[in-house]
Amino acid sequence: MKKHNFSAGPCILPQEVFLKASEAVMDFNGSGLSLIEISHRSKEFVDIMEKARTLALELLGLEGKGYQALFLQGGASLEFLMAAYNLLDKKAGYLNTGAWSEKAIKEAKIFGEVVEVGSSKDENFNYIPKGYTVPDDLDYLHLTSNNTIFGTQVKKFPKTTVPLVCDMSSDIFSRQLDFTQFDLIYAGAQKNMGAAGTTLVVVKEDVLGKVSRKIPSMLDYKVHISKDSMFNTPAVFAVYTCMLTLEWLKNLGGIPAIEEINEKKAQLLYSEIDLNPVFEGFAKMEDRSHMNATFNLADEKLKETFDAMWKEAGINGLNGHRSVGGYRASMYNAMSLESVGILVDVMSEMERKG
Ligand SMILES: *Cc1c(COP(=O)(O)O)cnc(C)c1O
Repeated sequence: MKKHNFSAGPCILPQEVFLKASEAVMDFNGSGLSLIEISHRSKEFVDIMEKARTLALELLGLEGKGYQALFLQGGASLEFLMAAYNLLDKKAGYLNTGAWSEKAIKEAKIFGEVVEVGSSKDENFNYIPKGYTVPDDLDYLHLTSNNTIFGTQVKKFPKTTVPLVCDMSSDIFSRQLDFTQFDLIYAGAQKNMGAAGTTLVVVKEDVLGKVSRKIPSMLDYKVHISKDSMFNTPAVFAVYTCMLTLEWLKNLGGIPAIEEINEKKAQLLYSEIDLNPVFEGFAKMEDRSHMNATFNLADEKLKETFDAMWKEAGINGLNGHRSVGGYRASMYNAMSLESVGILVDVMSEMERKG
């Protein structure tokens, strides 16, 4: 039986993506060849890459607005340094909202001065700092839109005069935003888009080429742009799964349609967390993530019972990250409202027992 998969990443993808991707691995479009044995320079694969790049820009509303979409390798973790390599000349600002932000800050420090414009470390990152000032002499400001581990999400982005860079690994394509406010967006595929192995980078071309240092080809966004994201062999399978997921999303009605479902799922789960005395939410209410909900048991003694119950209900991947503990329910785009309903049922059953 298919599980209700609440894993944080790699994680759930639409069932139709699994099906189409597995068919393509066996026999790509009736060609007698597997998707993963054809040349990445073949027309078949070039079409896939182009479709994935176009769909990404189209869904974000960035087509014809000076942006390029790339599917690179090395994960969001490589983008921590690649963003700085390409954009940080003297000084950059970072909003520290958790473990991923801290990793991004660490890499940026190799390339220049880093100003932490705000931090929520004082309360184990259970909120998003607000009211911070952004110096106007920064090369860019870097944010993490959704903090996968802590379950917080930036609801309002600062108006800045400096370029805005955003790690959207765990909430890209999940909600409507004015994406033109960002100059560089990156997101590892494996949270909301496809199989692990590729990272979507969306970059506004006019922010590039301003640093004085020499950039190695593989780390230079301009090189990847000039080669249409095919400077070297791309992660063909991962890119194909991204293309399929983006197609699925487009057919569903795009980001506005998925946002509505995501809001329903979040509302269903958070109202259970708030009303059920057995559970306590981790993230501050106004900053709660619609993708990753973090919560704890009010009484740790109930852990064994609760763990047995959700496993029995066919739920997978509910354990919280080791730095937070408790539970984390990741409700990415492909998660159905019904699956969230199953979890909520288990939680209310727990209240009757506990
Ligand atoms: C998972 C995650 C990363 C790291 O992604 P990799 O692809 O494993 O490098 C970075 N940032 C955020 C917000 C994440 O959720």
